[in-house]
Amino acid sequence: MVLTDIRQQFPILSRMVKGKPLVYFDNAATSQKPQQVIDALTHYYSFYNANIHRGIHTLAEEATMAYEATREAVRDFVGADATEEIIFTKGTTEAINLVAYTWGRQNITAGDEIIISGMEHHSNIVPWQILCEEKKAFLKVIPVTDEGELSIEAYKELLGSKTKLVAVVHVSNSLGTINHVNEIITAAHLVGAKVLIDGAQSAVHLDIDVQKMDCDFFAFSGHKVYGPTGVGVLYGKRELLEDMPVFQGGGEMIKDVTFEQTTYNDLPYKYEAGTPNIADTIALKTALDFITAVGKDKIRVHEANLLAYATAHLKTIPDLSIIGEAKDKAGLVSFVVKGIHPQDIGVLLDNMGIAVRTGHHCTQPLMKRFGIPGTVRASFAMYNQPEEIDVLITGLHKTIKMLT
Ligand code: PMP
Repeated sequence: MVLTDIRQQFPILSRMVKGKPLVYFDNAATSQKPQQVIDALTHYYSFYNANIHRGIHTLAEEATMAYEATREAVRDFVGADATEEIIFTKGTTEAINLVAYTWGRQNITAGDEIIISGMEHHSNIVPWQILCEEKKAFLKVIPVTDEGELSIEAYKELLGSKTKLVAVVHVSNSLGTINHVNEIITAAHLVGAKVLIDGAQSAVHLDIDVQKMDCDFFAFSGHKVYGPTGVGVLYGKRELLEDMPVFQGGGEMIKDVTFEQTTYNDLPYKYEAGTPNIADTIALKTALDFITAVGKDKIRVHEANLLAYATAHLKTIPDLSIIGEAKDKAGLVSFVVKGIHPQDIGVLLDNMGIAVRTGHHCTQPLMKRFGIPGTVRASFAMYNQPEEIDVLITGLHKTIKMLT
């Protein structure tokens, strides 16, 4: 198995939980941070903490350079054409809301249609619901098959002249399904609709090239790519970002202010009002550099092996059903056990030092689709090892025995 040495770079992985070595399988909620990322935060606060962009002193210049270096690192990471297309947000949720409040309010009118999918996270449902309610527009939903894939045929039937936006998740946080976004985007563009891709789960697992994908917007969160919480990214095509109205008003997003009128700053600052999350944004570059140094291809193979190993072993457990068996899946597996509530499994596994997520994973409509209250979800990262899956499987056998 590759990547065995990488664990030493994540200090948290050597801690004990309830007297047992931590087995961390909650990576889809948030990934752990390598020492370099933690050091980048400490270094910023210890040596060059300053507000950015406006200062002429050394510290302000150093902080500004580091902050803008992350923008360039993100541009490269997602394959965007220019740094002007990279907007820093709090996370995926804020990035999606930014599009809903700006592009949405400008472009959606009564009778228009927005298409989302049946496997969306609440953060890619609720902003569009709010918008549709306000504008008297309609939300359409791409159905999910029993295997946990999107029905592309049904999607194509939903598309029409009234479709203004398609907003879909790249990798499902509840099922692990990798959606075929290229096909979704091409079909949407044929009817003149724009496409937003929720990349919260894909940025860490897949190679992202927004230009090849040709999506109009792409959103992801720093904390799921081994970076800090509180920083995320909205990529948008330059011509769209230029035309959209501003999001929040305040310092930094302006060119000139009088009581009569305000003119707005150029991209990307137009959408970054106020003092941003400087430290976490700077450390995001360290996280992206770390991923690139390890190698996304290597990580992908490693996680695919973990998924195959976990799936094969989970299938040997009686009364356990895997929810979502798409052909293309990222390193994530969700399951239920007949007659046992997922939460009870999670609590007992925690007693053995195993961190999994249980519940609806912020995808309540998807859980309803499968007729379940929730699942137990094990999601993998570059530092997980097959031995940890053995611990999970043993733990599950014990748990099921205790609960039945
Ligand atoms: N979309 C998906 C698919 C997610 O998994 C998540 C995080 N669970 C989000 C959106 C929201 O991300 P954040 O909470 O970091 O804004």
